Amino acid sequence: MDLFDLSNKVAIVTGGNGGIGLGMARGLAAAGATLAVVGRNAEKNQIAVDELGANARAFVADVTNAAEVDEMVSEVVKSFGGIDILINNAGTNIRKRPEDLSESEWHHVLDTNLTSAFLCSKACYPEMKRRGGGKILNNGSMTSLFSSPWLTAYGSSKGGMVQFTRGLATAWAEDNIQANCFLPGWIDTDLTRRAREQNPDLHQQVLTRTPADRWGEINDMSGIAVFLASAASDFVTGTAIPIDGGFSASI
Ligand code: NDP
Repeated sequence: MDLFDLSNKVAIVTGGNGGIGLGMARGLAAAGATLAVVGRNAEKNQIAVDELGANARAFVADVTNAAEVDEMVSEVVKSFGGIDILINNAGTNIRKRPEDLSESEWHHVLDTNLTSAFLCSKACYPEMKRRGGGKILNNGSMTSLFSSPWLTAYGSSKGGMVQFTRGLATAWAEDNIQANCFLPGWIDTDLTRRAREQNPDLHQQVLTRTPADRWGEINDMSGIAVFLASAASDFVTGTAIPIDGGFSASI
């Protein structure tokens, strides 16, 4: 038995058209999974799917919108016959001090990063149950553990993701569904490129704090995706695993 084999498994990756989601989708594709790449930008979706190969298809949806999520999940089931793996990865950030955040900015960050995971998980649950089990991978962050004056909304969503994961893990263990959170360190993506534009010192601050002495690359996220999506992690649930080059071990 190949513990890491994902052939005959269907995976949804939200935000799979770029950054960390694409790095994880590459891992799943290499392990044989059939992939549903979900994002709002059809052009980016198509480029990702072309790279990922014949077993990947793009689905345009805004994961903050419950009706679009339900429609996307039913389209995936129609196309591929079911769902085994869900990676709740889509996310965003608005870097502002709490006193400067508007209510709508707060909701935008919480809806994109946390409520979306609830909507997608709830929509996929009946399909996973019908298949006899499933794997849910939720994207947290170092801000699930630490924070800064600029990360109040973002960190609230990412701290919430850890507790959301534990809730799913306890509720759906009886359905053989494992839910885990992964906590990326600083990974080079569009999101963190924008952060570096806002804070020119950030690049060096990350290197200084990260024992591995480098930024993560999106392909650093491929292995954890395969592990948490495969039979190799069947007794692993409710965890929050750092993928951070040692960032969270360092002061
Ligand atoms: P990117 O900006 O490259 O990726 C964000 C992805 O989310 C895009 O694919 C985007 O696709 C998708 N997305 C955003 N909003 C929505 C929406 N409403 N509906 C559907 N898809 C959406 O950044 P990252 O790869 O860095 O971020 C991915 C995740 O990783 C986020 O949750 C982020 O918080 C998290 N993270 C990132 C870290 C890092 O260092 N980079 C560290 C820790 C966590 P589209 O625009 O087409 O909708």
